[in-house]
Amino acid sequence: MKNVLFVASECTPFVKTGGLADVIGSLPQSLKQYERMEVRVILPLYDEISEEWRNQMEYLASFNVPLGWRNQEVSIYTLEHNHILYYFIANDYYFTRKGVYGYYDDGERFVFFSRAVVEALAHIDFKPDIFHAHDWQAGMAVALVKIMQPVEHMKTVFTIHNIKYQGVMPLGTYDDFLQLPAEHIGGMEWNGMLNCLKSALFHADKITTVSPSYAEEIKDPYYSEGLHSILLERSADLVGVLNGIDTNEYNPLKDPSIPVKYRSSRARKKSNKIALQEKIGLPIDSEKPLYIIITRLVEQKGLHLVKHILDDFLQEDVQLAILGTGDEEFESFFAEAAHRYPEKLATILTFDEGLARQLYAGADFFVMPSKFEPCGLAQLIALQYKTVPIVRETGGLKDTIHPFNEITGEGNGFSFTNYNAHDLLSVLRYSLTIFNDPFQWSQLLKNVNKSQFSWKDSASDYANLYEEITSIYV
Ligand code: ADP
Repeated sequence: MKNVLFVASECTPFVKTGGLADVIGSLPQSLKQYERMEVRVILPLYDEISEEWRNQMEYLASFNVPLGWRNQEVSIYTLEHNHILYYFIANDYYFTRKGVYGYYDDGERFVFFSRAVVEALAHIDFKPDIFHAHDWQAGMAVALVKIMQPVEHMKTVFTIHNIKYQGVMPLGTYDDFLQLPAEHIGGMEWNGMLNCLKSALFHADKITTVSPSYAEEIKDPYYSEGLHSILLERSADLVGVLNGIDTNEYNPLKDPSIPVKYRSSRARKKSNKIALQEKIGLPIDSEKPLYIIITRLVEQKGLHLVKHILDDFLQEDVQLAILGTGDEEFESFFAEAAHRYPEKLATILTFDEGLARQLYAGADFFVMPSKFEPCGLAQLIALQYKTVPIVRETGGLKDTIHPFNEITGEGNGFSFTNYNAHDLLSVLRYSLTIFNDPFQWSQLLKNVNKSQFSWKDSASDYANLYEEITSIYV
């Protein structure tokens, strides 16, 4: 029996801004179920976490956490949910704020979180064999446990969910926040800055990322965001493990947010389309092909391509709904375009889990033309709701979506290779041709119905990795 502690900055159902939360909310369950491991999760207690959850938490301990000259009090609360024990790190100064990220001192906040997690190991009744940290917000914790050795023989795994976000601060913060001997600075510095992600890449026993293709891509300067040389150095310890999703949670047969439950019935799915069209103000027509985009509105997600070909695409007999929040450039462009095409385009600029599920359920196509995509969960959720993904062949999109082939009848979606707007436009037009061909369309839907990406296989990959590091590196 292995003890594993997950360290992360977000987790469903408590707080979510993207796919990281889905992974932290579902992988521990699978490790427990399939691999019989004891997995616990430690998170910041944000103001954002609702009263409903807070009322169920139990106080565990309080202690001081030093951050350079600063001394902050932390309390730990616990909560058991679906047989997993969660620890929450509470500190008013750093976490009692609106939202989750986006503050000028995010670097300091998450170095503090990392330091608090290390201190917490002395106060929780749990001795991890594996300390598994996720993304830059937990990156410094990997370096700190390696240097400070708070638990004997504990091994570290660090998972890169997105290499673009690194937690970079002026190098002076090394002394200001950490006050460690000068010898450790080399493991944390990158291009003259303190870098949380690099600190984890340097110190972790094993590094994983969330798809096999992305594990290869990030060794290349085009995708590495400047970190390829350290990843090449550590390539023997870097593996790509494909993310899964909680297929019980994303299940159109049980989903309480959707009006009409279904397994694979097209008729019942069309009823969801009608309800959705009514809700978001598009003309009601269950036969009209409905495309959706659900995403953070940032460059990574290929939105420049969509922007470029939007007018051309909307000349077709289609509807498109965009749900997202993010960069002003995209928010204003898609909002304005929705005014120009009231019959064809709906833009909804919010983060709304229930509405997202209604979109997945009501749509025919899910569009995700990412510039890069570590894994991508949205296309996997789309498959669960029998909505056909249209993706660019990169990272996890390439590993999960295979282009439909009319001759062999294989494939669970549509894809294009180059990051080029007109390649996207042609694949969108091609998807329409298949939609209008009843024979090919039903073959494609058969394949979509069979595509499922649960955690089962990936959980065993993680279990093998944990086994390997706890037995080899003694
Ligand atoms: P990333 O983690 O890069 O944002 P993923 O595809 O891995 O991308 O995960 C995105 C997750 O966030 C999915 O569960 C998706 O449905 C959800 N999501 C993105 N934008 C919104 C939104 N505006 N409202 C609700 N859910 C959203």
